[in-house]
Amino acid sequence: RDEVVLVGRSNVGKSTLMRELTGHDVSTGRKPGVTRQPNHFDWAPEGFMFTDLPGFGFMSGVPEEHREQIKTDVVRYIEDNADDILAGVLVVDGKSVVDIIDRHSGEGEVPHDVELFHFLRDVGVPTVVAVNKMDKVDDRDERLDDLCDRLGILPPWQQWRETVAPICAKRGDIDPLADALETHFHEAKRDDLL
Ligand code: GDP
Repeated sequence: RDEVVLVGRSNVGKSTLMRELTGHDVSTGRKPGVTRQPNHFDWAPEGFMFTDLPGFGFMSGVPEEHREQIKTDVVRYIEDNADDILAGVLVVDGKSVVDIIDRHSGEGEVPHDVELFHFLRDVGVPTVVAVNKMDKVDDRDERLDDLCDRLGILPPWQQWRETVAPICAKRGDIDPLADALETHFHEAKRDDLL
């Protein structure tokens, strides 16, 4: 297991985060919805590889059918590679994620972010939710507790530091995510040794 996958809706700051993590410019501002292959980047300090999967969800000018296809491709990639994937990072926009989840809940609908979170865990991939754009969030603790609630994990968020990592990718404040990933790396290494 040597791969960490990054998933998230488009425009949550996934490319910005990727650049912070790896130092590679992963084409921020590329045209949304253009089908791309997964991008792989080495993460030297730990000898792991980050895989940037295409952003999904609403993108203006991109037909619904195409958006669904992107999500299907993301899910399939994770299924096919689950055995090699050490951890998943679900990037969300801290400012809007709870509202988006609530808007898409009910009537048999499961919001994309919640679905992906459970899917990753179901296929045995330990998952960190990188709650980005925290610079735009005033009621930090309340917002993070609400997010835990929507993801089906019990607040307070502080007891989920391996799962919920508030960050600000734009400013390079990503320590909570790096710490959470570190924990999963060490658990995986320990499991490999057993
Ligand atoms: P992607 O579509 O998920 O790859 O998103 P991008 O990395 O292209 O970022 C989308 C927008 O969010 C850009 O305008 C970024 O500057 C902005 N952004 C990224 N990270 C942050 C952050 O931590 N705080 C704020 N306020 N904006 C951010």
